[in-house]
Amino acid sequence: MTTNRKVVLARRPDGLPTAADFRVEEETLGAVPDGHVRVAVELLSIDAFIRTVLQESSYHPSVPIGGVVSAFGVGRIVESHAPDWREGDAVRGRLLAQTVATPSVKVIEKIDTDRAPLSAWLGVLGLTSGVTAYVGVRDVGAVKPGETFVVSGAAGGVGSIAGQIARIDGARVIGIAGGAHKKAYLEDDLGFDAVIDYKNEDVAARLRELAPDGVDVFFDNVGGEILDVVLDQIRIGARIVICGAISQYDGDFAQQGVRGPSLYLRLAERNARMEGFAVNELPDRVGEAETALAGWLASGEIQQREHVEHGLDRFAETLSLLFSGGHMGKLLLAPAAR
Ligand code: NAP
Repeated sequence: MTTNRKVVLARRPDGLPTAADFRVEEETLGAVPDGHVRVAVELLSIDAFIRTVLQESSYHPSVPIGGVVSAFGVGRIVESHAPDWREGDAVRGRLLAQTVATPSVKVIEKIDTDRAPLSAWLGVLGLTSGVTAYVGVRDVGAVKPGETFVVSGAAGGVGSIAGQIARIDGARVIGIAGGAHKKAYLEDDLGFDAVIDYKNEDVAARLRELAPDGVDVFFDNVGGEILDVVLDQIRIGARIVICGAISQYDGDFAQQGVRGPSLYLRLAERNARMEGFAVNELPDRVGEAETALAGWLASGEIQQREHVEHGLDRFAETLSLLFSGGHMGKLLLAPAAR
């Protein structure tokens, strides 16, 4: 008999999700169906999209009331009813916010922990972290050596990798992040050329000092006011990469109330383009991104801090860190309590 603990949605959050919006339930699991495996979930990727799927309408499939909350995770197989999938194999997939998952092998993949540690398969090699950064920098931003690259949400899971890839590609990298500790981490540990602490500095004035000739590529994770401030300082031929807009995920994700850029005419004035992307729509790009990222991780050219919280009971608090900026690097939750 196996017991599973899972986080279910108790009610739709009004504003930032709180513990009262979720319930941790226990269940006794039945037999593993053919073609499925039982997985002890070791780590969950805490991603901004989780907040959006708690709403009734969302770009990603919405979680019903009483449903298990969506999340990508990694873990190890503890029981297999599928040929070629063995006990002890490490796997990755949408394992959901729970301690034990029983997915069909059609919706998970094996991962090689000799190539990279288990946690890195959600971080540096993770679809929603490193792979997102790779696609955004290389395919959408198409950054070139000598260009000025600016990234917002710079100390987070996507932003910290995006800045490092742009640095590898020869750009001058300026991060925008909140707090002196984040600024120090990005400049001293990750080799960013400069960081603007948007909580304590005037972003427009600092950007003008740091990039007097303007910005070639802006990789935006934040949206809102910061997007307008940078748009105002783009160069001719600039590329604005719309990766996300975490400052705008407050309401119903049917887009009511999302503040769009008011200075979008800078695009016309400066022959610039703004382009978004959704990494989940680009499965053909994952292989190349993972190979490059694994190489950089092994050579030390890319590194990522991991912030790991423990226990499903801390799900709401952990999710809220994304919106308060209370973490650095990749945010993870180990479902088992410490
Ligand atoms: P993260 O960057 O690790 O965490 C979010 C960070 O955003 C926080 O640490 C916080 O840092 C900053 N932030 C939060 N609220 C803010 C606000 N109101 N104004 C300014 N900064 C704010 O999160 P992540 O998982 O890596 O995701 C980053 C972005 O990528 C999100 O927008 C997400 O939606 C997007 N994303 C897009 C795709 C895609 O396919 N396009 C895939 C995955 C993720 P500070 O301390 O600096 O404020």
